[in-house]
Amino acid sequence: MSGLKLPQEGGCRCGQVRLRVGAPPLLTMACHCTGCQRMSSSAFSLSAAIPSEGFAVTQGEPVIGGLHGAARHYFCPNCMSWMFTRPEGLDWFVNLRPTMLDDPSWFSPFVETWTAEKLPWATTPAVHSFAAFPPMDAYPGLIGEYAARAGAPAP
Ligand SMILES: [Zn+2]
Ligand SMILES: [Zn+2]
Repeated sequence: MSGLKLPQEGGCRCGQVRLRVGAPPLLTMACHCTGCQRMSSSAFSLSAAIPSEGFAVTQGEPVIGGLHGAARHYFCPNCMSWMFTRPEGLDWFVNLRPTMLDDPSWFSPFVETWTAEKLPWATTPAVHSFAAFPPMDAYPGLIGEYAARAGAPAP
């Protein structure tokens, strides 16, 4: 499922901020919430949850955007691409927008969230759909199932 070649580099639209991923994602997601619709200027946001030790900004200084709240949304200060998010209280992973990677072709969302707020036509190939965020106790099972699929030969 995950054909992400590691390590892999990526960057924002203008190239001022560059980053490197050295670990496979724990989970891949699409979020249909209205906040993500606004920040992504699109129907939903995409996230690859990368373990923090496998994620590095290698060039440039991303700045905080979005609501400037507990979840820290990082943007390029020049082209304003929404690059990644450090969720509140969850320091062990970073939610990278996978289209920042130089090759995002491996990505598909395994989980979709906030379908209660989705645009009527918006659909994804996600295996699991949740009306809001999944309950915290659902994540270990989702991560385990994603890892088992990612370890299987590509279809
Ligand atoms: Zn930029
Ligand atoms: Zn969202």
